Amino acid sequence: MQRIAIQGIQFDEKSSYQQGPKLAPPLIREALHSGSLNLFAENGISIEQDTVEDKGDFEITNYFDIEKITKKHLDSGHKVFTLGGDHSVTFPIIKAHHQKYPKLDILHIDAHADLYDNYEGDPYSHACPFARIMENGFAVKLVQVGIRTLNTHQAAQAEKYQVEVHQMKDYDLNNIPTFKNPLYISLDMDGFDPAFAPGVSHHEPGGLSSRQVLDLLQSIDTEVVGADIVEYNPNRDFQNMTAFLAAKMMKEILVKMM
Ligand code: MN
Ligand code: MN
Repeated sequence: MQRIAIQGIQFDEKSSYQQGPKLAPPLIREALHSGSLNLFAENGISIEQDTVEDKGDFEITNYFDIEKITKKHLDSGHKVFTLGGDHSVTFPIIKAHHQKYPKLDILHIDAHADLYDNYEGDPYSHACPFARIMENGFAVKLVQVGIRTLNTHQAAQAEKYQVEVHQMKDYDLNNIPTFKNPLYISLDMDGFDPAFAPGVSHHEPGGLSSRQVLDLLQSIDTEVVGADIVEYNPNRDFQNMTAFLAAKMMKEILVKMM
């Protein structure tokens, strides 16, 4: 089995609206190990394996350290699974992956396209990571699912970078393409409808159900080489339900990486 490193990236300084995602990694682990659920994914495989190593949490003071930490784990022969953090963490993580996987496809689940050229003057804002990834050529193909906030600028950016945007209003699992290159999955918890995931900074109604995301993840038939779960904001959660949803998604993604 493939070796997998789990890294918690405690960072939310690039959140534009509310902070809190920095607190997420230990709380998602706590839900996972609370005794409320077992450690098997729905395919009957457990994430409790000798090959899965939890490297713990990293408190980030310098944004660019995220790339170094990720690179260290990749260089030790692991695939890397990240618990974020706001969505700005994905750019340095993908930058580190690019050296190992020069041809990478990305599946990005989110209410937002995160394609701003800059946001309030910051090109590394959590509203911008996929613009940085695409302008650097770090992804061959970027497929976005669950989007329901496209404005004129981001629609133009999507066209400029040839992003395949599956807006929520048109969502159909049958239209999601198959991937040919190694795949990275980036799951922003606000891709879910806030009824399923209230613990996010940006409540955007009309989103994906838990089941729709599970079906999407389980439909993937290519090699998943890395993933992140980002934007869980515990300050906004209700009865830890978003932490438990993130823990369930963590299991489903990890078995795809094995
Ligand atoms: Mn996002
Ligand atoms: Mn979002």
